[in-house]
Amino acid sequence: MSATLLDGKAVAAEVTEALRARAAALPRPPGLAVVLVGDDPASAVYVRNKTRTAEKVGLAHWQITLPAHTAESDLLAEVRRLADDPQVDGILVQFPVPGHIDRLRVIDSIPPEKDVDGLHALNAGYLATKRDGFVPCTPLGCMELLKRSGVATRGAEAVVIGRSDLVGRPIARLLEHADCTVTACHSRTRDLAAHVARADIVVAAVGIPRMVKGGWVKPGAVVLDVGINKGADGKLVGDVDFEAARERAGFITPVPGGVGPMTIAMLMANTVKSAERRLAR
Ligand code: NAD
Repeated sequence: MSATLLDGKAVAAEVTEALRARAAALPRPPGLAVVLVGDDPASAVYVRNKTRTAEKVGLAHWQITLPAHTAESDLLAEVRRLADDPQVDGILVQFPVPGHIDRLRVIDSIPPEKDVDGLHALNAGYLATKRDGFVPCTPLGCMELLKRSGVATRGAEAVVIGRSDLVGRPIARLLEHADCTVTACHSRTRDLAAHVARADIVVAAVGIPRMVKGGWVKPGAVVLDVGINKGADGKLVGDVDFEAARERAGFITPVPGGVGPMTIAMLMANTVKSAERRLAR
């Protein structure tokens, strides 16, 4: 059996098309500001893709690029300026930031109502308590793809590999809210293979190329591969051994073209949601 591909690119195109109509219905375009500190090439690509999609959706968007030696206080002042700007509905600081900048201080400086990346402690708390806040974009994108697979989540065994605040932890919460029985695996987990073998839904968010072996996957399982790694040949590979896993899985996301485009679509969704909320006030 060969798995059905969960085509994130196609689903993301549908999502952004629907968002375009919502954005156009507002009295002013939703505004997204993306702040990039330094010249990390991967971050530059992510930011470029985000602004390109923002353009398609009809958002007002600003890219603020600061040099790598920017002082933390100057970055915080820039975030404050965006926080005070009424045209800006969403602020995203692209991580990682250079080592001399405290990531948590940056996250804390973003007003929760403009935190479209969903990293602020208040939004994490809203997610944990099942209230309506901003949820990180990659986990939201995973849930949308899971919905498209049509696989029932109620009572399903879900295994999440990775426990970052950006991906692993929030996706585990969302799966739990969708009535899955969730196992959160991480770098200290014993016998990862045994956990994966029980899973109806596997989410891999680790950052190690092809670490999830095809033979671990339960036949018919849904496999969501969040990992974006550069292979020896310079091509992108996920955290799952795709070729082997697709022989056993029921549904699987490719890398690239799976979770990645959905992450960007969900950033647009969070920005439109923020604008709708702020304009309704
Ligand atoms: P991270 O480094 O913050 O977290 C990695 C997690 O993996 C940690 O919680 C750690 O406990 C776990 N881990 C490490 N080694 C492990 C092992 N041997 N076994 C089990 N767990 C282990 O990374 P992140 O920000 O969560 O990102 C994970 C991956 O997803 C990266 O490849 C990143 O590039 C990618 N990513 C993709 C998107 C997207 O849009 N597709 C978005 C964000 C991140």
